Amino acid sequence: MKHRIVVLGAGYAGAYVAGNLARRLSPKDTEITVVNAEPDLIQRLRLHQLAAGHVIEAPKLADVFAGTGIRLRLARVTAVDPERQIVTFTDTGELGYDTLVYALGSHVADHGVPGVAEHAFHVTARPAALRLRERLDSLEAERGRVVVVGDGLTGIETATEIAEARPGLSVALIARGELGARLSAGARGHLRRACDRLGVTVLEHTSVEAVEATRVLCAGGTALASDATVWTAGFAVDPIAAAGGMKVTQNGQIIVDDTMRSVSHPDVYAAGDSAYAIGDNGRPLPMSCASAGSTGRQATDAIVGRLTGRKIAKSKLDYPGNHISLGRRDGILQPVDDQALARPKYVGGRKAARIKTGILQISLWATSHPTFGLPTRRRRLADTPNASAKKALA
Ligand SMILES: Cc1cc2nc3c(=O)[nH]c(=O)nc-3n(C[C@H](O)[C@H](O)[C@H](O)COP(=O)(O)OP(=O)(O)OC[C@H]3O[C@@H](n4cnc5c(N)ncnc54)[C@H](O)[C@@H]3O)c2cc1C
Repeated sequence: MKHRIVVLGAGYAGAYVAGNLARRLSPKDTEITVVNAEPDLIQRLRLHQLAAGHVIEAPKLADVFAGTGIRLRLARVTAVDPERQIVTFTDTGELGYDTLVYALGSHVADHGVPGVAEHAFHVTARPAALRLRERLDSLEAERGRVVVVGDGLTGIETATEIAEARPGLSVALIARGELGARLSAGARGHLRRACDRLGVTVLEHTSVEAVEATRVLCAGGTALASDATVWTAGFAVDPIAAAGGMKVTQNGQIIVDDTMRSVSHPDVYAAGDSAYAIGDNGRPLPMSCASAGSTGRQATDAIVGRLTGRKIAKSKLDYPGNHISLGRRDGILQPVDDQALARPKYVGGRKAARIKTGILQISLWATSHPTFGLPTRRRRLADTPNASAKKALA
């Protein structure tokens, strides 16, 4: 009986892990299945661009995995039972596994603010970004008002992208504290000038208490008229892992050890936004594309090492900095130190925009070529007690 590896999610982390496992493990004794809800590879880093009106390439997953030996199952995961080692789908199908890689990413977190789920738009998934795009289309003729809540990276990118692509709209960005508080002083100044140039109204030190169909209600009683409220105030992980009894954080991330293995269920690995992993600096890695890469690499090394009886290679788990687009012609690259604090220097303007475009292209290439075009060295599984028991049962 082959060892069944099931990878949930084919985003930046899942596609990478699946492809690299297929490259490094022999198909003679492993069977790799990827499960994803959508048929396309979604470039999540560019969903704010999609919402603003740009055309974003979305390769078919069937093409991405063609020739790799990986089986693709298009289905939405509804449950994981780590005790019975079974994944359940919307279509009531089930799939058993021996090793599970959980890489379902994250979705928007409403933090319990009333009205967000009913009235706000978001850009954390393609259908949501397309809904926002449709709404923006309908607002352009009447100089509609767009309010973006949250001045994290997603909020900044979304507000500036919409303002640049749709100059007919009035765009406001709400920041809880000072705008771009986690950036260096120079980068903060750059961001403020970009918002001025693009006509983005910035409201600082403002907390949103509720979202209504046509208004955003702020602490202190201010009400802002809004025809489209875009909620970008954080990410959370689907409660699937928690419901299955895995040890998770408050926002649903699976708590893993330094090999990305679940601390509660040793057959389960997590990578990308779904994993609560501690970086080399002792701090939790941020939900980001870079973390999807490093946690994915470490999970792959650990699975290959354990299954083939080899030493587990240690991946670097760090976060080098923020690459923020400010529309298509401007950007900020903000390196951070080993405590995740902004370094004094930053790169801004067209150069930063070009570098960010390069990063997006590399991410797309890496995800859509999951075996990396590298030569295969497919290792046989070690005859571990687990494998021997399986053989005896087969
Ligand atoms: C607009 C925007 C801009 C961003 N910009 C940046 C940036 O500039 N730099 C950066 O580092 N990070 C950025 N991020 C964050 C980055 O996109 C995520 O950290 C990254 O996508 C995480 O990768 P992942 O593989 O964990 O999840 P994802 O890339 O989201 O992949 C998860 C996959 O799982 C699938 N899936 C989810 N639920 C289910 C289910 N129940 N059943 C089946 N399939 C399912 C999804 O369809 C998807 O294919 C941005 C995010 C957004 C929304």
